[in-house]
Amino acid sequence: MESITQKRCTLCAKTFPATREFFGHYARNGNFKSNCRECERARVKAWRKKNPQKATFIKSSTL
Ligand SMILES: [Zn+2]
Repeated sequence: MESITQKRCTLCAKTFPATREFFGHYARNGNFKSNCRECERARVKAWRKKNPQKATFIKSSTL
């Protein structure tokens, strides 16, 4: 039986399996981010609110 490494989110302190399902990862080196997807989403949302012009630019450049 394969055991999945658990990883703790540094923001919400919840523990999730260290998989791409729960943690985003850096495209450059493949390492998982220190915060879970949910916190990452909240972080990005807050950032977009703070930087609406930049967020619009990123959105239009990635779509
Ligand atoms: Zn989290």
